[in-house]
Amino acid sequence: MSTRPADVAELIAGTPTQLFIDGEFVDAEGGASFDVLNPATGEVLCAVADATPRDGRRALDAAVAAQAGFAATTPLERHGILLRAFELLLERQDELGLLMTLEMGKPFAEAKGEIAYAAEFFRHFAGEALRIEGGYQASPQGGARFLVTKAPVGPCLLITPWNFPMAMGTRKLGPALAAGCTSVLKPAHQTPLSMLALAEVLTEAGVPDGVVNIIPAMDAGAVMEPLIRSGDARKLSFTGSTKIGKILLEQSADKVLRASMELGGNAPFIVFEDADLDEAVAGCMQAKMRNMGEACTAANRIYVHSSLIEQFGQRLASEMSALTVGDGAQEKSKVGPLIDEAAQDKVDALVRDAVGRGAQVLTGAERPEGPGYFYPPTVLTGVDPDAQMTGEEIFGPVAALIPFDTEDEAVAAANDTPYGLVAYVFTNNLRRALRVAERIEAGMVGLNQGVVSNPYAPFGGVKESGLGREGGSVGIEEYLETKYIGIAMGG
Ligand code: NAP
Repeated sequence: MSTRPADVAELIAGTPTQLFIDGEFVDAEGGASFDVLNPATGEVLCAVADATPRDGRRALDAAVAAQAGFAATTPLERHGILLRAFELLLERQDELGLLMTLEMGKPFAEAKGEIAYAAEFFRHFAGEALRIEGGYQASPQGGARFLVTKAPVGPCLLITPWNFPMAMGTRKLGPALAAGCTSVLKPAHQTPLSMLALAEVLTEAGVPDGVVNIIPAMDAGAVMEPLIRSGDARKLSFTGSTKIGKILLEQSADKVLRASMELGGNAPFIVFEDADLDEAVAGCMQAKMRNMGEACTAANRIYVHSSLIEQFGQRLASEMSALTVGDGAQEKSKVGPLIDEAAQDKVDALVRDAVGRGAQVLTGAERPEGPGYFYPPTVLTGVDPDAQMTGEEIFGPVAALIPFDTEDEAVAAANDTPYGLVAYVFTNNLRRALRVAERIEAGMVGLNQGVVSNPYAPFGGVKESGLGREGGSVGIEEYLETKYIGIAMGG
């Protein structure tokens, strides 16, 4: 196991900063680049090559050229590559964790946790590569047989967000590689370094040239739209905001690309009067504070039964105010900075709006001076159901407590959103737990638990939170086409 690198400058100097196309690190056309910042300090970490539309086209050409050869590899070969990549990620866990902390801000311990989580997608899909099944059956009318096989969908375009810079990449690349698909991946401009470092890992693991291409770009739309519209890729998998997801779905319609969309959330967290208070507070800390609240799965609206809300609020505020805020690279920091100034402005504005509508501040709510884009862990209670923060993702360390009295009221409030990614329900009443889990409109429900993400389980949303599932045994299906061959038996 690696140890944490002592020298940040050395770590950055050793990290690739060029585009990764056809198995090589190369400059962008014209040598264009953009700066990557450390959100804890606002300082520049390094400059990274800025792909132009022509670079994007070169990357897609490489993926198209590599597709037939990679599709012809055996499942065992792809299994071996993925297992090796899993091991290499774990060997470099400390170094890659620190790199992630530097570009994204999350505390080092959480970043290391994400490297392990990201690696697990490779181990899981290494197994799935060996379980791509087909079928052979008699036609019910007689005289024929149905042969059903699965084939890789073809070259894929993958677009990932900044909040989980490594795991959102491996969650797409794992099943793509397992299925035999080549890819062009565009990471978020704030966090390109984790994916560029992954390119090195994948090369060492034996991924052939052209099979994975990584193209950081400042103007994502200009680079990706022509690739999506070209029809030369056969699939688009996107994780990011619902707003951009809708634009990309429209672009995909042109050539009828297979599309997977992991979009925004607005997770309700419901604490019934019969919940175990200790578990509910602990679950809320996880659901709210994982990744400083910058997660699509973050508890956004916390509905607490009126008989408990005072006690729950005090307990939560005491735990939140005990967290040390600071540069995630320092071991003592439990809460890192937000990704950038715009994120800090947004969180601050949402808190001001809620307080202006009568919410009481139990802790936090004071925006600190720079440097860095920090926001303190904040608990607001008595939040107006019409406050802006109940309608959109807060994406920050702010818990919004709203009282309720009946089960019907809680379920109706929870479902009163266009989103449907995840919901959390805390109760010790088994019948209520199952009843509410079934009534809630969400792709995932955490029953008495504050984290649902797991590579071995199907992750995804309903309504405007997305299309398709990542992870679990269904995750690979998104990268496979089903082919049916009808066979006349004759004779
Ligand atoms: P975003 O603005 O939608 O960006 C996501 C990715 O899309 C980035 O790589 C971005 O590139 C790229 N992009 C932006 N505009 C584009 C365009 N016109 N064409 C092609 N690509 C484009 O989202 P974000 O603010 O970075 O990420 C946070 C969002 O992701 C939240 O809504 C969160 O809920 C969601 N999310 C969802 C899941 C899930 O699994 N459901 C997981 C994590 C995050 P740039 O870097 O240039 O902006």
